[in-house]
Amino acid sequence: MQEQLQEQRLRVDENCVFCKIIKGEIPCAKIYDDDRLLSFLDIAPANKGHALIVTKNHYDTLLDVPEEELSILLKTVKKISRAMSSALGNEGFNILMNNEKVAGQLVPHAHIHIIPRFSNDGIKLNWKPNKYKEKEINEYKENIKKFL
Ligand code: 5GP
Ligand code: ZN
Repeated sequence: MQEQLQEQRLRVDENCVFCKIIKGEIPCAKIYDDDRLLSFLDIAPANKGHALIVTKNHYDTLLDVPEEELSILLKTVKKISRAMSSALGNEGFNILMNNEKVAGQLVPHAHIHIIPRFSNDGIKLNWKPNKYKEKEINEYKENIKKFL
């Protein structure tokens, strides 16, 4: 009954695969579950143990997640990252969040990836470094600062 009430209060997108996981309609390898957040293993991991953490409310991207849910999300990412490293013995990990299709977001339900990393695991998250023209870095800095 309580679970039903809780579910009714959630923001849900009926067509969203992560909302279906949250509702229990699609199974997942769950590693963390509380009233606001769910974490489960990515079905196509970069390395085994690769986890996703999602808000139970459906928000499309980081920019849609309210501040109060964001702070608990990041704290929980830290908690799960630590547990993962203890369990798997990975020497490091990447935290990754794709926002919008152009940035590689395939599932439009805000989520953070935690990818365990091992030496020589061959995973590359590298980009080819671009270069600023003279003074251009200042123009970019000033332009972004105007909106803060
Ligand atoms: P994105 O590219 O949106 O940041 O990442 C979406 C991730 O969700 C992908 O890494 C993909 O493997 C994972 N994924 C997609 N569908 C499912 C699913 O049904 N179950 C699980 N566990 N992971 C999924
Ligand atoms: Zn969703």
